[in-house]
Amino acid sequence: MAIDKDAKEEQYSELNPGFCNACGGKLFFDKVSLDHYEDEKLYVIEDVPAFICEDCGEIWIPKPVIEELEKMIAVYIEKEMSGKPPKEQLNG
Ligand SMILES: [Zn+2]
Repeated sequence: MAIDKDAKEEQYSELNPGFCNACGGKLFFDKVSLDHYEDEKLYVIEDVPAFICEDCGEIWIPKPVIEELEKMIAVYIEKEMSGKPPKEQLNG
């Protein structure tokens, strides 16, 4: 369901494109915080597995991770709309 908090580099290594699209620099695995705006509300998603360019800092998020995030956000918004905002964090 939610993204595994113990996500490891090996888990995502096969998704690593290897080199930055923007500058050709080397990508390394890390976790980032993402801002997402939906209906003028800001959602912050933490601990997102991503690849970051060591040269230009470009962040590349694997497609399966993006799909998972979109699901998480949709569920979160649905809960909020139903009048029962979840107490847990979005990344929980
Ligand atoms: Zn780069």
